[in-house]
Amino acid sequence: MMRDFECKNGVMMIAGKSAVELVEEFGSPIYVCDEARIRENYRNIHGAFSRYMDTKIHYACKANTSLAVLRILEQEGSGIDAVSIGEVKTCLKAGFTPDRIMYTGVNVSDKELKEVADLGVMINIDSISEMERLAKISPQHEISFRITPGVGSGHSDKVITGSKGAKFGIPLREVIGTYARAKDLGFKIKGIHAHIGSGGQSVEPFLDMMQVIVDLVNEIKELGIDLEFIDMGGGIGVPYKPQEDEMDLNELASEITDMIEQQTDIKTLILEPGRYIVCDAVVLLTKVNDVKDAGTKKYIGCDAGFNTLIRPAFYDSFHYVAMANKFGKACVSRYDVVGPICESGDYMAHDRVLPEPVEGDIIAVYNAGAYGFSMSSNYNSRPLCGEVLVNDGKAELIREPETIEELWRHQRIPERLMK
Ligand SMILES: *Cc1c(COP(=O)(O)O)cnc(C)c1O
Repeated sequence: MMRDFECKNGVMMIAGKSAVELVEEFGSPIYVCDEARIRENYRNIHGAFSRYMDTKIHYACKANTSLAVLRILEQEGSGIDAVSIGEVKTCLKAGFTPDRIMYTGVNVSDKELKEVADLGVMINIDSISEMERLAKISPQHEISFRITPGVGSGHSDKVITGSKGAKFGIPLREVIGTYARAKDLGFKIKGIHAHIGSGGQSVEPFLDMMQVIVDLVNEIKELGIDLEFIDMGGGIGVPYKPQEDEMDLNELASEITDMIEQQTDIKTLILEPGRYIVCDAVVLLTKVNDVKDAGTKKYIGCDAGFNTLIRPAFYDSFHYVAMANKFGKACVSRYDVVGPICESGDYMAHDRVLPEPVEGDIIAVYNAGAYGFSMSSNYNSRPLCGEVLVNDGKAELIREPETIEELWRHQRIPERLMK
């Protein structure tokens, strides 16, 4: 089931703090992050798998790279899956040591490879080209390979990454040759990795992928390469709708670890959840600026648009919305919840029953912690919004809202245009 929130005097409460007070204190729109929930999600997924075998969680930080969020996960003992040098350096800044970070880039430059290698971060190689280039840059580096398992899963075609022909990974028919070549090149070969996609809700694709991996592990062993870990990527979905089922983590964990233990001698499993850890820990609060009855449709016009949360516009993702200051009140009519961006594709929610809106109401957008702030933009010259961390009824600003002046800070106007 989707996570729900406590109601106090008709107001939505987030970790003991009223949504109305949060907006009064920190402005709107604002991402509100519940610290305890991040810790709970981390412990849930780590616990589910480590009951069965040695498991390392490498939080896929592209879901949410806020430094405070990274600090929480550093304290929990998490590792990191980073997809760019920017993410690697952000995680180092947040206190992760290089040995806790794995770099999984795609189509990366020699310059970036060198920077990552010089920092002492393990590299999960995505292509034969990348392997040959890394061999010249850091010949004895610790590596693994991302393979294309030929199995994909995800909430949208845009986020399926593991299917045959995908842009990611070493194609299946080339995997064995690539490991053999890596051995000749002198790399320290540690593991094998695959990532099927993001937000899938069923266990089967993970099992199909794992069968491909365990078969490869045994073929690779015949080359005289003993791998230390299998990394099964991320992609564990969460419910975005009230009655939607959760993935059965225990079933996933017991079946996956069974396959590994029965068919290989691998002792360590790595998991790279992003969404699972942060998604339902964050709510986006956005104020109602405008209310319109367009005849065929009624609109609630908010101050957050696809500049703030792009998932509905980009993937047609469903985000549950509620009226935070009329929480649990009777719903009277159907509305489209839309934003301030000048595009008709700018929406947060279509056709939702909600209480009668007035200007100044506060809409809460659920499940905004993964691919929310981290995908936000300045489109329409709207500054990025702020973020607040709530714990035990106390709220702290963890990101100041950007200012309009900051939109211009990297721009230069050639002198001749100033006349
Ligand atoms: C994005 C990504 C993940 C995380 O996906 P989630 O759906 O957020 O769990 C894990 N591994 C890699 C390589 C990724 O690119």
